[in-house]
Amino acid sequence: MNIKTNLTTDEVLTADTHLIQSFADLDLLKQNDARTVIVGAEGAMVRDSEGNELIDGIGGLWCVNVGHGRKEIIDAITDQLTQLDFYSTFYNFTHPAAAALAEKIAALAPGHLNSVYFSNSGSVANDSAVRILHHYNNRLGRPKKKKILSRIGAYHGSTHLAMAMTTPGYSEGWDTADSLVHHLKSPHYWREGDGMSEAEFCDTLIDDLKQTVERLGAENIAAFIAEPIQGAGGVVTAPDGYHARMAAVCADYDIKYIADEVVTAFGRLGHFFASQDVFGHTPDIITTAKGLTSGYQPLSATIVSDDIHEVISRPGGMFLHGMTYSGHPAAAAAGLANIALLEQEKIPEHVRTTGKLFEKTLKGLGDNEIVGEVRGSHFMMGLEFVKDKSSKLAFTPEDAIGLKLARATQKRGLIARPLGNILILSPTLIMSEAQIGKIGDILQESIEEVA
Ligand code: PLP
Repeated sequence: MNIKTNLTTDEVLTADTHLIQSFADLDLLKQNDARTVIVGAEGAMVRDSEGNELIDGIGGLWCVNVGHGRKEIIDAITDQLTQLDFYSTFYNFTHPAAAALAEKIAALAPGHLNSVYFSNSGSVANDSAVRILHHYNNRLGRPKKKKILSRIGAYHGSTHLAMAMTTPGYSEGWDTADSLVHHLKSPHYWREGDGMSEAEFCDTLIDDLKQTVERLGAENIAAFIAEPIQGAGGVVTAPDGYHARMAAVCADYDIKYIADEVVTAFGRLGHFFASQDVFGHTPDIITTAKGLTSGYQPLSATIVSDDIHEVISRPGGMFLHGMTYSGHPAAAAAGLANIALLEQEKIPEHVRTTGKLFEKTLKGLGDNEIVGEVRGSHFMMGLEFVKDKSSKLAFTPEDAIGLKLARATQKRGLIARPLGNILILSPTLIMSEAQIGKIGDILQESIEEVA
């Protein structure tokens, strides 16, 4: 059979006029040279249609944790498809791959998180978390306990509900289901700290949560959702102790804590899950996606606590939530093989050293005149650029500083992700020290060129 994916660059660019890209300036994309056609990948590198070898500085999209072209995962997917191409997990059906992966995730996840609902994207994992909690509260006879607290700067996905939980800036000109959601203050100390110490700033964030709960009424709030480190909102780390303190307040008010670990799980911060091992608290729900299969198949998981599972599985009502491809055999096989690689090659442990070197290398760029803040942790980093360092004056959208820098790095062999005035780096987790050094050099030269 001849299915044509082996197109010339011109053929791709013609065909691509029928494709709607995600988070793209669709007007700009009408110019052919605005697009990069990626045709191959191996390890920490990708290749474009012009034959350029580029360091994949964004790991696909924060997801290719074990690196590109891993035969073990590809074989696991094809073996699975040969054995069982598809069956659903609806009604009383199950299959070995989905069951085995759910068991494995439950074993890796913190203490009481033992039940897994699969879907195919981080957005739907977050929607599923909310739907499950709403149903949980209905089952407990608390039909009003439905609101969700999120935060300024959050990114939770692009479905109607996930976008409502995302920071309002992401949905300008679009509608969201926002009546359900309240956004708490941004935890970004460098931008919002305003003369306070970091500890004092943290106190204001905790107060914001308490005051909001008092105002809205705990009886109306189902959950607080938070990424351990805000990702697509600009790689924002919260003050020390923040997550554990927020979790304690939520517990006092019987508000469930949803940790959105779509990016941070499966090794990016040096552990399978960051909430407990890095930030010292155990959420009621963890949602995860990207690193779960390292992007080889679309798969996400909503991992719920024993308490939640006990309530939703009581007699007297169906679990009326389902996606045809929930736990798809090929995706589940990819997840199992990916986790086996993470374990066998001790990739999270490797991240604890090389990820720290990466962090140090990028933080070393902080002295540059236009670098306002370098932030993040391990292989999840962001650089914010400013027009004036002392006043933190921001570049304007017309300056297009992020875009210019991303073009400058790509010219030198590094893909980085522009996000307004921020450049995001979230490479594969298998970077060598030499590649880390090269990223540092490319960034330095690119900053000098654009400054
Ligand atoms: N949550 C976080 C923290 C994310 O970074 C993303 C995507 O980048 C999502 C949710 C949404 O995941 P998806 O794009 O798979 O729907």
